[in-house]
Amino acid sequence: MSLVYIGLGANLDEPQQQLEQALTELAQLPNCHLLAQSSLYHSKPVGPQDQPDYINAVALLKTDLEPLALLDTLQQLEQDHGRVRKRHWGERTLDLDILLIDNLIIESERLTIPHPFAQQRSFVVYPLAEITPTLIFPDGKHVEQLLTELDNDLIRIHA
Ligand code: ATP
Ligand code: CA
Ligand code: CA
Repeated sequence: MSLVYIGLGANLDEPQQQLEQALTELAQLPNCHLLAQSSLYHSKPVGPQDQPDYINAVALLKTDLEPLALLDTLQQLEQDHGRVRKRHWGERTLDLDILLIDNLIIESERLTIPHPFAQQRSFVVYPLAEITPTLIFPDGKHVEQLLTELDNDLIRIHA
């Protein structure tokens, strides 16, 4: 049984509904329990700026799935939401990133854990801290400390 933080993002086709539906779907996955979900947040895009703003959130899941099986499951959900890959960091109907799995460090072809940019992205760090203010990354970094290093450029929507 692992505790997994998942970052959700969307900026196409009613992104708020995409995220709300994805949270429901995460809660219904076999061998998984949704333990917590953050508020939804508006954020500015990473990468190309000629795309709509994003809605982001973070979910905490308890799961029996192995890391790669979880990645497969999340990528299937992205597909179910009609995700089409056009350009790097481009617009999408749903993005599901695995941010953390317990205290694991994974460096494999398909999976890097913790997510390589988690500590630099306000739309990851703020919702993470909302769910677990005492969170500590495997490298010893406290999420509370990260909050002081990142501008809060987000607009919180609701719980
Ligand atoms: P970023 O990773 O910078 O947020 P992105 O979410 O746009 O960018 P994607 O196109 O969704 O990137 O994913 C590209 C690949 O990243 C996936 O096919 C997957 O194999 C790999 N990947 C590596 N580590 C992770 C992780 N922690 N969570 C999700 N995907 C990961
Ligand atoms: Ca991402
Ligand atoms: Ca992704």
